[in-house]
Amino acid sequence: ESVLSRIASVDPVVGAFIKVAAEHALDRARKLDARRKAGDREFGPLAGVPVAVKDNICTCGIETTCASRILKGYVPPYDATVVERLRASGAIIIGKTNMDEFAMGSSGETSAFGVTRNPWDLERIPGGSSSGSAAAVAAEEVPLSLGSDTGGSIRQPAALTGVVGLKPTYGYVSRYGLVAFASSLDQIGPFGHDVEDVARLFEVIAGPDRRDATNAGRTPPEVKFGGEPSLKGVRLGVPREYFGSGIEAGVRARVEEAIKQLEELGASVEECSLPSTEHALSAYYIIAPAEASANLARFDGVRYGYRAAGASGLLEMYGRTRAEGFGPEVKRRIMIGTYALSSGYYDAYYKKAQQVRTLVIRDFERAFGRFDALVTPTVPTTAWRLGEKLDDPLSMYLADICTIPVNLAGLPAISVPCGFADGLPVGLQLIGQHFADTQLLQLAWAYQ
Ligand code: GLN
Repeated sequence: ESVLSRIASVDPVVGAFIKVAAEHALDRARKLDARRKAGDREFGPLAGVPVAVKDNICTCGIETTCASRILKGYVPPYDATVVERLRASGAIIIGKTNMDEFAMGSSGETSAFGVTRNPWDLERIPGGSSSGSAAAVAAEEVPLSLGSDTGGSIRQPAALTGVVGLKPTYGYVSRYGLVAFASSLDQIGPFGHDVEDVARLFEVIAGPDRRDATNAGRTPPEVKFGGEPSLKGVRLGVPREYFGSGIEAGVRARVEEAIKQLEELGASVEECSLPSTEHALSAYYIIAPAEASANLARFDGVRYGYRAAGASGLLEMYGRTRAEGFGPEVKRRIMIGTYALSSGYYDAYYKKAQQVRTLVIRDFERAFGRFDALVTPTVPTTAWRLGEKLDDPLSMYLADICTIPVNLAGLPAISVPCGFADGLPVGLQLIGQHFADTQLLQLAWAYQ
């Protein structure tokens, strides 16, 4: 009840939620209370904890729209694996959070259902695409939320709203029930106020799932916290390409201070180079749209959600449904992706992008021969003003320059707050080795 009343008082301004499932949540809470009163002591690790879920994650009986008109009215008949796991842990799903349409965007502004505002400055964007999941935690509407990260969509809004966000290793968390954007890059992950909260939610959602063929079938080791934080023996690399032109002075200063702090905790810090970084963004903006163009073909007005009225035949119905149902950024991605995959252009664009992806992976492999983790800014800037980049897709794409290489390589990475620049939050990104999510969380905890 207290969470619902907090949402009722701040969300009309923040706009973090597309749907608040108040009745559903209260019903769950009452059932948990009744079990407790009856003497039941067998509760899961998140019993009674309200969790908000990004609206591209299927929730049985609760509308799931991906913030798109084309899915308006779609009520999934099943739960995503992560939602099933949340329910089994005793968590209470409080509602569905706003996002960039189909998770395509970096500001939260491409939602068909209105913008989300940054709680630190309501004239600014909260980042995206998991805009609502980040803002809901930052505005203290919920203690925990789930987002998805294809190219930065958890870490980037976490950084811009001053909360913690983890993108797990690709394959640790099941994608079953996550509406696919770019299947080889998408991963669900947690938001919270601190590293410990994020670790607890990660433990609940990660693990084997036969319904997702890309799931690694691995259970992460338990994340243990406690004692004096120490980073003795930890080798950290600082890739110089992440501090290039375009990074704001305030962001650079906070990240450099954080690196000093990591050294004071006992870590050894050394500069390194990931030379293919400069090509990662271009490769991503071929690969992600290519995969999206295939994944989004299922939205045709027949199977899900919205259907345009009054068409005289099937093809016209498809065309009008998509014309009316998809927003401009989604259409742009489908067209770029279809183009990059079409015969004659496949070798020049898609194949080339995959080759660049391999180079990015090799860069990281080389670095992890010498280092346990890498340290970078999460975003080169602080939160920008609403509308500032909306008409300039290229400058919007540049906002993900520090987060995208990590998805291309399938690595885990976390963003933790590292202070403020001009009153706005700055995020520190820590990148770990494959399936070293537990060590990464422990490292982030020591820093925090
Ligand atoms: N901003 C990036 C994009 O628009 C990443 C989005 C994401 O991680 N879902 O593709």
